[in-house]
Amino acid sequence: MHHDLSDGFVHVRGASEHNLQNVDVDLPRDAMVAFTGVSGSGKSSLAFGTLYAEAQRRYFESVAPYARRLLQQVDAPHVREITGLPPAVALQQRRGAASSRSTVGTLTTLSNLLRMLYSRAGTYPEGAARLGAEAFSPNTAAGACPRCHGLGEEHDVSEELMVPDTSLSIREGAIAAWPGAWQGANLRSVVAGLGIDVDAPWSSLPRKDRQWLLFTDEQPKVLVKPERDRIDHGYHGLFWSARAHVNHVLATSKSQMMRDKAMRFVRTVRCSVCHGTGLRPESLAVTFQGLSIAQANALPFVELVSALRPVAELTEAGAATSRADSGEATEVAVRICADLVARVQVLLDLGLGYLALGRSSTTLSPGEAQRLRVATQLRSGLFGVVYVLDEPSAGLHPADARPLLDVLDALKRSGNSLFVVEHDLDIVRRADWVVDIGPGAGEKGGRVLYSGPVAGLEDVDGSITGDHLFGRVEPAHRPRRTPSGWLHLTGVSRNNLGDLSVDVPLCVMTAVTGVSGSGKSTLVTQVLAELVRRHLGQAPDDEEDSALEIDVDDATGLESFDRLVRVDQRPIGRTPRSNLATYTGLFDAVRKVYAATPRARERGYGAGRFSFNVAEGRCSTCQGEGFVSVELLFLPGTYAPCPTCHGARYDAETLEVEYQGKNIAEVLALSVDEAAAFLADVPAAARSLTTLREVGLGYLRLGQPATELSGGEAQRIKLATELQRARRGHALYLLDEPTAGLHPADIALLLSQLHRLVDAGNTVVLVEHDLDTIVSADWVIDLGPGGGDHGGHVMAAGTPAEVSQAEGSATAPYLAARLR
Ligand code: ADP
Ligand code: ADP
Ligand code: ZN
Ligand code: ZN
Repeated sequence: MHHDLSDGFVHVRGASEHNLQNVDVDLPRDAMVAFTGVSGSGKSSLAFGTLYAEAQRRYFESVAPYARRLLQQVDAPHVREITGLPPAVALQQRRGAASSRSTVGTLTTLSNLLRMLYSRAGTYPEGAARLGAEAFSPNTAAGACPRCHGLGEEHDVSEELMVPDTSLSIREGAIAAWPGAWQGANLRSVVAGLGIDVDAPWSSLPRKDRQWLLFTDEQPKVLVKPERDRIDHGYHGLFWSARAHVNHVLATSKSQMMRDKAMRFVRTVRCSVCHGTGLRPESLAVTFQGLSIAQANALPFVELVSALRPVAELTEAGAATSRADSGEATEVAVRICADLVARVQVLLDLGLGYLALGRSSTTLSPGEAQRLRVATQLRSGLFGVVYVLDEPSAGLHPADARPLLDVLDALKRSGNSLFVVEHDLDIVRRADWVVDIGPGAGEKGGRVLYSGPVAGLEDVDGSITGDHLFGRVEPAHRPRRTPSGWLHLTGVSRNNLGDLSVDVPLCVMTAVTGVSGSGKSTLVTQVLAELVRRHLGQAPDDEEDSALEIDVDDATGLESFDRLVRVDQRPIGRTPRSNLATYTGLFDAVRKVYAATPRARERGYGAGRFSFNVAEGRCSTCQGEGFVSVELLFLPGTYAPCPTCHGARYDAETLEVEYQGKNIAEVLALSVDEAAAFLADVPAAARSLTTLREVGLGYLRLGQPATELSGGEAQRIKLATELQRARRGHALYLLDEPTAGLHPADIALLLSQLHRLVDAGNTVVLVEHDLDTIVSADWVIDLGPGGGDHGGHVMAAGTPAEVSQAEGSATAPYLAARLR
C-alpha cells in the first residue's frame, strides 16, 4: 500500500517498540495530537521511541552518511513503516543533566544577543576601546576576571573561622589559625615586640590592629628579646598575618594534615575583584541604559524588558541615529533591543518573568526548563517540523498552563505539528486529536484504543482516559482530618520568601499551592526540609543541601517529628548499575535465593557472585553494565548492547544457575507484576513487590536501569521503599509535585498510598498543582500572588473549601470550579 505524502497524515504501520503490539495508527500533521493512557501504557514508546527516534535516524542518515556503519549498532525503532513523517524536534524534560555553567541566558541563546548589544552599542568609559562580544562572557579568556578566572568565587580566610572565640587573648590562642608550639610562641613574642597587648581579650583590641594581625601582607622583622623559660638569646622574628600563614601552608605544605587544618579557616567567597560576576573590570565598565552586563544578567525579565523597551521603541519615534558613540540611540542598539524585547516577551507570556538571564540552569525546575526551550523554538522560525513534547503542563499552575497552550498554538499556526504526551485533561480537551493507548500498562497495554477527535473518545469502551475525561469516575471520599498540633514558623527568609510566617498542621496532608515561582519549592524542599533535617541532626541528602542558608526567627513544633523523608523526583541512581531491584533492597533477597540453590552451593557461589557490581560473576566485556558506549563523532554518544552477554550482564557460568527454571538475568528482565508471582515464596522480595504494585509500578522491569526511569517513576519507587517499611511513626514526608507524569488513574492510586501514611500517624506536605490532589488534602497553603519578587506571601490557608473562597488567590477560582 502506498501513502501519499500530501494527505496530511503521518502513517505508522507495525510499531512494536517496547510493549507496543504491532500498532497501526494515522496521525494528522499541522495539528496538536495528544497521546494519553495510564503510566507504562506505551505513550512514550510511540511518541518518542518510535516517531521521534525514526525522524532522528533519518536525519542522521541524511547529514552523516559516514556514521551509518556505526548507527547500525544502535537499534532502529521497531516499526515496519512510517510515511509522511516530517523532521522532528524533541522537547523532553526528563533527562539530560544541565551543566553548571549553563544559564537561562545560554539555554535561550539570549546571552549572545545581550553580549552583542554591549559590544556594539554599549556606553564605554572615556577613551576605552570597543570590546568584542566574547569579552562579555566569563567563559572566554577575553572576558574572564583575572582573579577568579571567570568562576566568580575565590577561597579566602574568614575572620570568624580564624578567631572563633573573641573573649580569648592572643596569649590564650585567640588566633586559632596561627600555628601552635614554638612557632606560635614566636609569633606572640613578635606581636608583643610590635607593641600590641597579647594579654587583652581579642575583642578589646582596636579594630585596626585586629585587621592588620589577621590580613596584612606586611612581614616586619622584630627583635625578640630573651624570655624566661623560652629563649636564652634574642633573635629577629618574622611576622606572618593569619591569612599569610594559612595561604603559605596551602601553597607549600606537603603535609595533608597541615593542609586540612589550614582549610578549616577558609571559605568560598564571592570574588572581590568581579563581585561574583566572573567578568573582567573593563567589561563591567561598559553600560547600557545605566546597567553593566552583570546587572542586566541579574535583573528579572520583567525589569529587563522595562529597561530595554524605551530603546526598542525608538524606531517608531524615528530617533535612531547611526553614530557609534552615542550608545543607546544607535540603529544597531534599537535593532538588537527590539529583538531582545520580542523574545523576552514570550518568556513573560509563559509566566517566567521572574527568572533572570544569569540564573544557573541547575536551579531550574524541569517545567521551567521546558518552557524556556519551547519559547526558544517559537523564535527559531522552523516550520514543517513535528515537536514531540513530554507533559508540557507538568509543574504548571492551571493559571500558567493557559499561556503555554497559546504558545503551542502559535507553533502550530506557523505550520508545525505537535505530538504531546499529556495527562492533564484540560490540555487533552484542547487537542485536535487524541491517541489513547492502553488499556493497561506494560504487556496489558500497547494497543491503540482510539485515534481521532477528542469527542469521539466518549464512546470507547474500556478506555480509562475516557472514563476520567467524561466524568465517569467518582472521586474517593475521605473524612477530613483535624490536625493534632502545629508547626509554627516565623520570620522565614530565603529566595523570594521575605519575613514569611506560616503554620503547618501536624498529622494531616497539606498541599502547598501557587503559580510558578511563587515560592512553593523554596518553602517545602528548602526551608521545611532544612529546618527539620537540622533539628533531627540528619545528614544532608547531597552536597547542595548542605550549603543552604535558611533565615528564620523562630520555629516551634519541630520536635513532633522523629524522621524526615523527602520523596523527590531526583534519580534513584546516576548510572545504569542502579535499578529498582537494587534500590528497594529486593535484589539482596533474590541473590540469597540463587546462592542457596543446589548448583550454586555445589560450585561454592555466594550471594556476591550474583551481583553485577562485583567482578566474580559479571560479564567482563561490559563489566556488568549490559551495554557498551558507542562514541559518534559530532553526535551525542549512545549505548549499544554488549556484544558478549547481549545485555545479560553476567558471565556464562553464573547464568547456568537457575531457580524455578530462570537464571538471574531472566529475573531482572521480569516486570514487577511477573516477579510478584515468581517470587511469591520469598517474603522479603514479595513485600517490596507488593508496595511497588500498589503505587502503580507493576509494569516496570526489575532491572530497568535508573537512568531510563522518569522522575515520576523514581519518586514512586522511593515512596514504595518507604511504604514497605510500614511502621507507624511521626515522620514528615515532603513531596514535590508527586503527580507530575501521572494519569488520573495513577494519581488516584498514589493518593490512597499517601493517605495511608497519614493514617499511620505521619505528616505529609506536598507541592501540588493537580486539583484533584489539592481537593483531597486536609489543608491548603496558597502562596502568591505572582512569581519571583511578586510572590512569597501566604495568600490563603485553610481547608480546600475555605481556600476556594479566598480573595486574591490565583488558585481559589480553580478550586471553586472543581468543588462545585
Ligand atoms: P508511558 O509513556 O505510557 O508511561 P512507556 O512508553 O514509557 O509508557 O513504557 C511502555 C512500556 O515499555 C513499559 O512496560 C515500560 O516498562 C517499557 N519500556 C520503557 N522504556 C523501555 C526501554 N528502554 N527498554 C525496554 N522497555 C521499556
Ligand atoms: P515555585 O516552587 O513556587 O515555582 P520556587 O520556590 O522554585 O517557586 O521559586 C521562588 C523564587 O525563588 C523564584 O523567584 C525563583 O526564581 C527563586 N529561586 C528558586 N530557587 C532558586 C535558587 N536556587 N537560586 C536563586 N533563586 C531561586
Ligand atoms: Zn573574579
Ligand atoms: Zn556484557
